[in-house]
Amino acid sequence: MEPNPKLLKRRPSNLKEWQEGLEELLASGMEDFEEKLFSFLCDHNHLVSIDRFKNLLDETGLREMDFRLRETMRKFRAVLERQLTDEHELRGLVDKDTFIDCVSDNIVVISKALTSQFVIPEFKTFTDIIDTIYETCKDNDSGLPAQYIPQLARVDPSHWGVSICTIDGQRYDLGETSTPFCMQSVVKPLNYALTLNDLSSEVVHQYVGQEPSGRSFNELTLDYQHKPHNPMINAGAIVTAGLLKKGLVIADRFDYPPKEGEPDMRYTKQAMDQFKRLSGQEHIAFNNSVYLSERATADRNFALGYYMRENKCFPPEADLVETLEFYFQLCSVEITAESGAVIAATLANGGICPTTGDRVLDSDAVRNTLSLMHSCGMYDYSGQFAFKVGLPAKSGVAGGVMLVVPNLMGIFTWSPPLDQWGNSSRGVQFCEELVGNFNFHNYDNLRHTSRKYDPRGRAVESKAQDVVNLLFSAYNGDVTAMRRYALLGMDMSLADYDGRTALHLASAEGHEPIVRFLLEKCNVSSYLRDRWGFTPYHDAKRFKHDAVSEVLLEHMKTTAPKDAPFSIQDIDKGLHNMHL
Ligand code: GLU
Repeated sequence: MEPNPKLLKRRPSNLKEWQEGLEELLASGMEDFEEKLFSFLCDHNHLVSIDRFKNLLDETGLREMDFRLRETMRKFRAVLERQLTDEHELRGLVDKDTFIDCVSDNIVVISKALTSQFVIPEFKTFTDIIDTIYETCKDNDSGLPAQYIPQLARVDPSHWGVSICTIDGQRYDLGETSTPFCMQSVVKPLNYALTLNDLSSEVVHQYVGQEPSGRSFNELTLDYQHKPHNPMINAGAIVTAGLLKKGLVIADRFDYPPKEGEPDMRYTKQAMDQFKRLSGQEHIAFNNSVYLSERATADRNFALGYYMRENKCFPPEADLVETLEFYFQLCSVEITAESGAVIAATLANGGICPTTGDRVLDSDAVRNTLSLMHSCGMYDYSGQFAFKVGLPAKSGVAGGVMLVVPNLMGIFTWSPPLDQWGNSSRGVQFCEELVGNFNFHNYDNLRHTSRKYDPRGRAVESKAQDVVNLLFSAYNGDVTAMRRYALLGMDMSLADYDGRTALHLASAEGHEPIVRFLLEKCNVSSYLRDRWGFTPYHDAKRFKHDAVSEVLLEHMKTTAPKDAPFSIQDIDKGLHNMHL
């Protein structure tokens, strides 16, 4: 295919023009996308500049380091290294075959970025407004960093960072976004979400309520049922930490206990592994000196603990001191605004991390968490915040604010000076300015509000289309397509109207590699049942795919959930007693 003559005459000057030009070229169809892309990007000498290509992706919000661009970037690096040693090659330019070889492994995310399919297609227009808001808030020097422990009191009040991650993994960072700081109360919704995930909402809410307390975050008070009001205040977060620990104890019986005199970090390490997954494997660390200080100045939290023990707020087997220590450790886990933004984006994306495709939380657990962040996440300013900003958020005394725009993006701001309510002054101002400019408030009318800018594009594919694509690829045994969907963050256990999933179809067709991929890499449950009650195992058996039935049986044995519809004995007998 020849270079596009129109574009050779006048190179597009911005991303929007590039995207429009490319879309015009693709009007004839998406086949041979790689070739079309090359012809679109190449110069008179039929060469494409790697830097120009990377800049273009960068403008869409896709980072060079993005997991979904791994193979492409690795190949580009190899090309550049080879060019260094070969004097005949032009540095940083690639011909058609090389270009196609480099991009084809990651073509799904590349095509999505360059054809305006990301949830915010005009990312630059969006981030230009964010730049202005960031600068406005920078001038706000009201408030003081938290004073109750020296580690927080001595921090530089001028730190100011804002990081954004959309549900398509588009990233934007401004200011100090890679400096670590402690989550403090920002950990509360994560602690709650993980507990819901492990133990279900019914169990968790036997111990903690869902109402705003109307009192200060560390007040010695319980609701009319003698439960802490909600998991976003200290009382509720301490009880929730007890429940989380209970879940972790069940999950990991084999970890070694600590040596004499050392703090017991086993459960915190496990919780940190989960935070790491929520953050797409980005920065999560532990600040031991904050932990020791928290523990040494914890009279109020100990008082709360004893008061709650007297009122039988904890599960019977919980050890109060261990639970409190676990809570202090959780508050001392460090993140950066960047890793925090990915965590917020995972919450915005229903529990699937947008940068890795890892399903960390169940979508119901996320919905419940966001509901309580919305009503109780900003200390005694929560009501006003819900009124003015209308979005779920959680702040912490170290100056972090985690803001979620459901189904769109996660935002994390960090600035240590706090206002009279204990929320970051710049953080709150940023959220208010954001909603003043974009129609992100939960009750902003998306059709008739013209005063505000809506950066959402036409991009989001319908769920029905997702199901069709996924099931069709599973039926055809197309492992590569399945991998792409997983990397794009698709829910791999999506079911059609009849409850049929990709795992059912791959099992019925005997596609063992797909069955293994779904079970082992995507953690899809082998217990999924369609509307007739059939599991994927039934399908494999019915169509006599013995190898696949073996794989499924083994998986069912090792992952039997508490509420499994079959006993292990049934499974061992090969479900002979089930109607096949
Ligand atoms: N470690 C603090 C406490 O429990 C958390 C404070 C906060 O961020 O709200 O008192």
